[in-house]
Amino acid sequence: MHPYDMNRRRVLKLAASLLGAGPLSALAQQRVPIADMHSHYGMFSRRGQDSGLAQEMRDQGVVLVAWKLVADSRWIRAGNLGIEQSGEPAPGDLAAYFRQQLDSMKSYIAAQKLRTVLTRADVDACVAGDAGIVLASEGADFLEGKVDALDAAYAQGLRHLQFVHYIRTPVGDFQTVPPVHNGLSETGKRLVEACNAKGLLVDLAHSTGPAVDQALDVAKAPLIWSHSWVDAEGGSWRDRYGFLQRRLSLEHAKKIAARGGVIGLWGLGLPRPGLGWPVGLGDTRAYARELAKLADAIGADHVALGTDIEGVGNNWSVNSYGHVRNTIEHLQEMKLPSAVIERLAYANYARVLKAALAA
Ligand SMILES: [Zn+2]
Repeated sequence: MHPYDMNRRRVLKLAASLLGAGPLSALAQQRVPIADMHSHYGMFSRRGQDSGLAQEMRDQGVVLVAWKLVADSRWIRAGNLGIEQSGEPAPGDLAAYFRQQLDSMKSYIAAQKLRTVLTRADVDACVAGDAGIVLASEGADFLEGKVDALDAAYAQGLRHLQFVHYIRTPVGDFQTVPPVHNGLSETGKRLVEACNAKGLLVDLAHSTGPAVDQALDVAKAPLIWSHSWVDAEGGSWRDRYGFLQRRLSLEHAKKIAARGGVIGLWGLGLPRPGLGWPVGLGDTRAYARELAKLADAIGADHVALGTDIEGVGNNWSVNSYGHVRNTIEHLQEMKLPSAVIERLAYANYARVLKAALAA
């Protein structure tokens, strides 16, 4: 094709879209916003100010990203079967590491002119099309057991808090090691209350079943499980592989849903799909199918994207927001009702976040 023809076609298409007619504008109107409840984009495989996150968010219509710093990443390593604790932080180390990570995230947000989501109005502005970041932490380890330290983190912009990850914590038990607290500790229960009182979204991903039950007992706002998958049985530290340990039981998923909460499905892709997780490397279609399946199982109001981009290493079905956009397009090809696709793609996270945040 002659370059002039190509340009001319583009101009005609653009004109059609500006006039609000023609196939291009119909496509643009169909582009559902995307929200991600769990992303490490730019933190591990991409690095620093040139990660491209902001550009990709804008290019792909990603309006909300829970950008998860990893509170304990200095003290964990990949073991043979999963991730394990590799060291013991000295007093003050976790708090300092948190501040350092948060500062670098905030400088990126400022440089790229992304919106920081602090209030319900910010969520609305993002859903209307303004790309926004929810400052989030994977692990409450930076509190070093002091619930009062939440005030400072909130003041710095933290709005979404996952309680536990991979290092031993005074907050409660997590799925990948033998339990020692019988669920949530007293500190963990007070932390649920403090998050509700201040307006932070509580994220129970990685927690044990009893910890989920106890958090639901004290919670005054809906809460979430941001990432992993749902199986008939929940995972246990005795399971052979990390991805099995990280399963949420269908019973707990339904219980979180019954309280208005949301489950984020991760974008894990396995070199050999199986053992209940049928999503292979780069397989956005299978990821879309699992999203639809989970919506069937627990209700379309309670499923969201929790990609874990860069958190799953090379084992991904999605590793960019272009891939996530493809996943949403597969849901459209599967002819799911648009109201269902919207809920999965962004509206459920927006709703539960607004329910948790202060006005
Ligand atoms: Zn995780």
